Amino acid sequence: SVPTIYVITPTYWRPVQEAELTRLSHTFQLVPKLHWIVIEDSNTTTKLVGDLLRRSLLTYTRLHVATPQAYKLPANPKLSWVHPRGVLQRNLGLQWLRTNLDAEKQKGVVYFADDDNTYDQALFEEMRSTKTVSVWPVGLVGGLLVEGPLVEGGKVVSWNSVWKRHRPFPIDMAGFAINLRLLLNHPNVAFKLKAEIGYQESLLLKEIVTISELEPRADNCSKVLVWHTRTEAPKLDQENNGSYIFQPNLP
Ligand code: UDP
Ligand code: MN
Repeated sequence: SVPTIYVITPTYWRPVQEAELTRLSHTFQLVPKLHWIVIEDSNTTTKLVGDLLRRSLLTYTRLHVATPQAYKLPANPKLSWVHPRGVLQRNLGLQWLRTNLDAEKQKGVVYFADDDNTYDQALFEEMRSTKTVSVWPVGLVGGLLVEGPLVEGGKVVSWNSVWKRHRPFPIDMAGFAINLRLLLNHPNVAFKLKAEIGYQESLLLKEIVTISELEPRADNCSKVLVWHTRTEAPKLDQENNGSYIFQPNLP
């Protein structure tokens, strides 16, 4: 049978949330055998996300867990890098996989897809055959047009990476997928709330894989099929102090 791709997406309310999730849902509709696990950073599930998922006709699971206040991002954008984002939400997604799936019965691949990135539908067929951990380049991240693995003879030999380049795996969350069985065989791996910024991916990957075991995808990591786009916060200064005049889909 064809492995299912489990896509884990943390998301939180801000004015662009519905636009981001709409774009993602339309990409994912182009992909067969994809199960979208959406985890809201919130004390409750919201109508906005619920309606969007129902309308998408995708196979999905909807969860929620709020990031504790102490780990929320400060409003001051200059301090916006102090805490890693989406950590508890991705971990709840991992817990759902462990509780609900049996790797002996269900072949699968796990991918962490942030809600604001841009995904080519072809990326999912690249990752579907992942036996350990597959890797590929990510556009527009790490201070580069493209950050990613460098491949020789079918193996990852080094990295085109400059920002914090001494990380054990200097790649972005969008740049790898994990075989479901491999993940379920490591029942304790999780992302860390207190990890240094940029180390989230490395700390997880070094628990489950070595560099020589990585499987390069996207034509030996020569093609970009995902971009770390970041949406500008819209100017809403004509709204009345955040009490929106027209409230299309507030949660
Ligand atoms: N996120 C979240 N709660 C937050 C901030 C971010 O759930 O308080 C989610 C966000 O929706 C995204 C992921 O965590 O799916 C990564 O966040 P972001 O895209 O802001 O990170 P960056 O692009 O700066 O790496
Ligand atoms: Mn992002």
